[in-house]
Amino acid sequence: GSSQSALNFGAGPAKLPREVLEEVQREFLSYQDSGMSLIEMSHRSKEYTKINNDSQSIIRELLNVPSNYKIIMMQGGGCGAFAAIAMNLLNRTGTADYAVTGTWSAKAAKEAAKYGEVNLVFPKANKPGSIPDQSTWKLNPNASYVYYCDNETVDGVEFPYIPETNGVPLVSDMSSSIMTKKLDISKFGVIFAGAQKNIGPSGVVVVIIREDLLGNPMKCCPSVFDFTHIAKENSVHNTPSTFSVYVMEKVLQWIKKNGGLEEMQNQALQKSSLLYNTMVQSQGFYSCPIDENCRSRMNVPFRVGFNGGDEKLEELFLVEAEKLKMYQLKGHRSVGGIRASLYNAVSLADVQLLVKFMNEFQKQHGS
Ligand code: PLP
Repeated sequence: GSSQSALNFGAGPAKLPREVLEEVQREFLSYQDSGMSLIEMSHRSKEYTKINNDSQSIIRELLNVPSNYKIIMMQGGGCGAFAAIAMNLLNRTGTADYAVTGTWSAKAAKEAAKYGEVNLVFPKANKPGSIPDQSTWKLNPNASYVYYCDNETVDGVEFPYIPETNGVPLVSDMSSSIMTKKLDISKFGVIFAGAQKNIGPSGVVVVIIREDLLGNPMKCCPSVFDFTHIAKENSVHNTPSTFSVYVMEKVLQWIKKNGGLEEMQNQALQKSSLLYNTMVQSQGFYSCPIDENCRSRMNVPFRVGFNGGDEKLEELFLVEAEKLKMYQLKGHRSVGGIRASLYNAVSLADVQLLVKFMNEFQKQHGS
């Protein structure tokens, strides 16, 4: 029936746990029997203050964030954070190193170049879908920071390791991979993530920053992007997206209840392996253009049709998928093909259904 949830393989905003949405629905009109919706309440109310503090605590707990890191929440999306990173950190030396492995790191590097010097640690990949070996990276010891995107949502490239930077602060965009694996936070200067893939609705960006990196924003940095100021104001400098933070906290509680990051990591590996193995077994009917060592566990781009894909067949694939309520499988407009996103709220059973469909589609169209 219409109340059944769709098989949503969208890249973002993306599927959230059904239980969380139901809980939000139940308390939407009257939060804790107040007769008011949470979204009608002051961001300085005791109710929202608790949500604000609890979200920070659960992020700290799930990711085991050390006490010398601040957790802040801001608006402006991932793209806002691209600028904020530069405006908060570039002042140290005026130059920063960027590893460009796909669409989003390229955008981040372009944005940062408005505020200082940007050095690409390897030339823009002539073959997309790979990460050059770290021994070939040209790191500047004088860089204010080294930047990389942990998971390139559009391209399907995920770092299988945390880069080494010889003491230069490491900055990572984890918008599409936060809370999907265990991390040693002490290796990072800053991690940021838009919530709208694995941890909540759009409208909130989580920033985890080592305290010694605060205190030196550029003069031009707007207060709403000033990490030092936001930290001092406990993320209520101005009106936050209270609804987004409220839902995010519930998603984080759901992650905790469902086995935490260890279990999210297990599931991510199982789900993505199932899909990649299906491609291997298809003998070339399904193909993934990404190097095996950096294939994303979160966003799986692939082509349908022998010899690297057939657009007509891919259109049909999408039509047939939708008949089975499998939605948002179309690849990013810049890449084409198909992309299946397998965030935390997508279950192994969902992926099994996708694989079943893929096998049947191949039987019908793959000879
Ligand atoms: N970084 C990554 C890895 C993303 O996937 C996205 C959006 O999809 C962004 C940054 C940009 O985020 P926003 O649309 O919130 O500005």
